[in-house]
Amino acid sequence: MAAQAQALQTKYYAIKILSTETDSKCRLCQQYDETIDHITSACPILAKEQYIKRHDRMCAQLHFNICKETGVQLDKKHWYKHKPKSVETSQGGKVTILWDQQIQTDRIILHKKPDIIIRDNEKGTCMLIDVAILEYKNVVKKRIREDSKI
Ligand SMILES: [Zn+2]
Repeated sequence: MAAQAQALQTKYYAIKILSTETDSKCRLCQQYDETIDHITSACPILAKEQYIKRHDRMCAQLHFNICKETGVQLDKKHWYKHKPKSVETSQGGKVTILWDQQIQTDRIILHKKPDIIIRDNEKGTCMLIDVAILEYKNVVKKRIREDSKI
């Protein structure tokens, strides 16, 4: 919440506002200014592991909620203990939920592994869900890239 409110005491803030630092570079990567945007979505050191963990946990929570909404029997009561299975089917078989599965296509598509697929077995339709956690100013860039994949 402090990051959303732009209230973290970053080194960039300390040098630009407080004048208490002499170096504004990130404590982890030492390459870029340590701004809130850098820490939350652009640090190459955090990108190797922490951003992936954050993405996977967000997807697991989403998967948990989708399972609950569609009537899938869940092992865990809380989302943070939920470990998504590759295939889940709702009671009665109306909906199948696929986790991190590659889809087959009749033409070449580079990115064909959405995070979650919700298949309505009665209608024969699928909803593909691909989660991205972005800094706001990168949302437009991501949408443009996603659109160009189709
Ligand atoms: Zn960094």
